[in-house]
Amino acid sequence: MKSYRKELWFHTTHRREYINITAQVQKALSESGISEGLILVNAMHITASVFINDDESGLHEDFEKWLEGLAPEKPHSQYRHNGFEDNADAHLKRQIMGREVVVAITAGKLDLGPWEQIFYGEYDGKRRKRVLIKIIGD
Ligand code: ZN
Repeated sequence: MKSYRKELWFHTTHRREYINITAQVQKALSESGISEGLILVNAMHITASVFINDDESGLHEDFEKWLEGLAPEKPHSQYRHNGFEDNADAHLKRQIMGREVVVAITAGKLDLGPWEQIFYGEYDGKRRKRVLIKIIGD
């Protein structure tokens, strides 16, 4: 069995942002030389997510509206966590959007469904943050 590890770094211009990372994940898979196995992609921060869904801008606006309804960013004072920080909403948003995805690798490709794309979801951005890719297989 072979393994391969890679980090992807991000520095978003907005507090909340969605970035399609499917091509970067496929590139890491190609670099690994692994053709059959599993790939794990996880956010390395507790205020960001990795998830799989549709690359459709209306849906991303729906995510924003839905998450702001569940855990509005403001007022910051509504959260116990916001003593020294202002990112309680980002922790809550990450919790529901998920930490990681695992995708099957078949014949050297990500074995995704027809509309599945991999996203980095940022909820407390404007600083350098990263995603871990770990690939195992043969
Ligand atoms: Zn925090």
